[in-house]
Amino acid sequence: MSREELAVQRARTSFQTGRTKPLDFRVHQLKNLLHFISERCADISAATKNDLGKSQHGTKLFETLGLEGEINLAIENLAGWATPRPVEKNLLTISDEVYVQPEPLGVVLIIGAWNYPWAVTLQPLVGAIAAATKSIIKPSEVSSHSAKVMEEFLPQYLDKDLYPVLTGGVAETQEPLKQRFDHIFYTGSSTVGKLVMGAAARHLTPVTLELGGKSPCYIDKNCDISIACRRITWGKFVNCGQTCIAPDYILCEPCIQSRVIEEIAKNIKEFYTDNPKTFEDYGRIINQRHFKRVMALMEGSTVAVGGDSDESQCYIGDPHCEEIFGPLLPIITVSGVDEAIQFINDREKPLVVYVFSHNIKLIKRVIAETSSGALLANDCLVHFTVSALPFGGVGNSGMGSYHGRHSFDQLSHMRSCLIKQLSMEGVNSMRYPPHTAKKLSW
Ligand code: NAD
Repeated sequence: MSREELAVQRARTSFQTGRTKPLDFRVHQLKNLLHFISERCADISAATKNDLGKSQHGTKLFETLGLEGEINLAIENLAGWATPRPVEKNLLTISDEVYVQPEPLGVVLIIGAWNYPWAVTLQPLVGAIAAATKSIIKPSEVSSHSAKVMEEFLPQYLDKDLYPVLTGGVAETQEPLKQRFDHIFYTGSSTVGKLVMGAAARHLTPVTLELGGKSPCYIDKNCDISIACRRITWGKFVNCGQTCIAPDYILCEPCIQSRVIEEIAKNIKEFYTDNPKTFEDYGRIINQRHFKRVMALMEGSTVAVGGDSDESQCYIGDPHCEEIFGPLLPIITVSGVDEAIQFINDREKPLVVYVFSHNIKLIKRVIAETSSGALLANDCLVHFTVSALPFGGVGNSGMGSYHGRHSFDQLSHMRSCLIKQLSMEGVNSMRYPPHTAKKLSW
């Protein structure tokens, strides 16, 4: 039996004991996850620095703070989330007990991506523990230092049988995908998402797919371009552009194009100094393969700002078709909001549509006439931090969602329960044959 088969079998056997179900057990595991983050923060930070060149503060801000927030939210609200949810009754069930009981799905496979190796791998785990599922955690091999720390230390904090960490590359991910799971939670590219869904279909396993996509960013010519560009520069260049919800390209009218370039250049300088290469808050492209991919995207384009690079360090100074996932920000000119909407709708549904405008009617129009996982007006990325908002894609950018209670719901089965008394049989007479006009006339 392979290592993967063994892990899944052990997980299923331990799940069947019902050990994950008591609320105290779940809270205890969630608190241990908090301890892991606080006690191992130096290892987490060093690994993330090695993988992506992220600074210690950057790791805290963009990886672990949100994770801790999600864990604390789950600890505080777990009892409420897990409790039966009464629903509206109809006339025939008026005296019955009718409710939805969240129940654990069973064994879940969580496959993480490399760009935020902690956030995107452990946030689904928070929901999985809260929902009392048993989870196999497969961090991305691309962020190898983070995967190693996860593999070495997480089992010292969490129940080893219930939450094992499996490491390895494509082959090691494909192996567990042959097994039967009760849910697969995948974060990564749309191409691999299709393979994961194909593998899941063989067992009728439901999936959550947190995928990528090209998130457009429309700037209205009448908005405060200086503030808009400051927020866009932050959202685009954080983590060297390797953020699934980063604005992928700008749509604006030709009359503001040079102002937009000027403002973005100014902000890049302010945020990352004249020499981002040696500045600790400007990260690195994850590996040579992605470095070459991003460099190839620049070929044939006019670089307005930056564009210098150093392959030996996977460094690309800030400088179409596939997701950019790097520090390039193309500007596409359109004649106005009508053309911007048309441009967005002619393509796959993105993870986010960004719009910058003072005009609330224009913002509402973009909401009404486009579709995406989320819409954010006048800022970038921050919807990720609102646990009450379901985070996820639609169409090519994914299916299913998570964060806060949504993670709990996503990884639970919402079981419909109806409890009737074995009395008051008279009220049922209408449904029993013979079906006469007299019975229906009351
Ligand atoms: P990746 O290469 O790390 O792959 C993700 C996971 O899939 C890894 O665990 C990897 O082992 C596994 N994998 C890769 N190829 C596989 C195969 N052929 N069969 C089975 N498993 C395989 O990450 P990536 O795909 O380069 O990640 C970047 C993408 O993820 C971008 O498109 C980004 O937008 C997206 N992303 C989305 C979110 C979100 O929340 N929606 C978050 C982060 C990243």
